[in-house]
Amino acid sequence: MSHHARRCPLCGQQFATRQGFERHYQRVHHQLSRFACPGCGAAFETRGALIDHARTLHHRWA
Ligand SMILES: [Zn+2]
Ligand SMILES: [Zn+2]
Repeated sequence: MSHHARRCPLCGQQFATRQGFERHYQRVHHQLSRFACPGCGAAFETRGALIDHARTLHHRWA
């Protein structure tokens, strides 16, 4: 990991570049928040993605 690595404040994912992070942020967090994580506020397009996120990061709905 370089010193430029950054971490998404909403979902905790890490990115090697600022561009990578911004693309992720636009794609994942600028969508309509149909499925918002109650644990951290991250929004997902599908319920499955939200469950996957919560299971991984928050150990919920396991
Ligand atoms: Zn994110
Ligand atoms: Zn979350």
